[in-house]
Amino acid sequence: MKIFIATKNQKKLIELTRILIPFGFEVLSEKDLDSPLEEIEETGTTFRENALLKAKAGLRRTGYISVADDSGICVDYLNGAPGIFSARYSGGNDEDNNDKLLNELKGVPAQNRGAHYTAAIACVFPDGREFTVEGKCYGKIAFERQAGNGGFGYDPLFISEKGPFSQLTAEEKDSISHRGQALRLFKEELKKYI
Ligand code: IMP
Repeated sequence: MKIFIATKNQKKLIELTRILIPFGFEVLSEKDLDSPLEEIEETGTTFRENALLKAKAGLRRTGYISVADDSGICVDYLNGAPGIFSARYSGGNDEDNNDKLLNELKGVPAQNRGAHYTAAIACVFPDGREFTVEGKCYGKIAFERQAGNGGFGYDPLFISEKGPFSQLTAEEKDSISHRGQALRLFKEELKKYI
């Protein structure tokens, strides 16, 4: 059975492929199409909605079961921002996003710097069935960038229960991260559908 992973992100592709292969799926991705996957406008209001939009675009394009994800960081003091806008928060790159977040939290004391990452994964089937799963990881936003070059995005600023995300090994991060949890839930849920 063929399954399509609707992402342009190689890291996400590798993680999802690793989970799907043991199910016996033939995993297809953008490189198997004759032209690039179109950029999807993320018009949803939640991570789950945006993941579904991307998965449905994959299904329309290929006709195969399709999987996609969406993720971001939600900061309590900012009422959940940047949330679904995490990738495009500053309009610049990861460094700019981190600078903007530090600026927005200038003078905010440690007890009010709570935050969580969220990752949603959506799966849609040609017969109309669909499901989404969501993982969360709670922590705090640091007062400055932390040492270590692990992870990506907001990781230099995110302090988890196991320490700064930028200082964790990939395995340590997977064991508690929003994406690790979402992937484990995804695996369990998928078993009910095939
Ligand atoms: P997506 O590709 O639309 O899911 O964008 C996710 C954005 O959220 C990324 O560009 C990062 O800024 C942020 N993000 C999501 N997960 C992580 C993570 O595990 N570490 C750091 N940043 C993350």
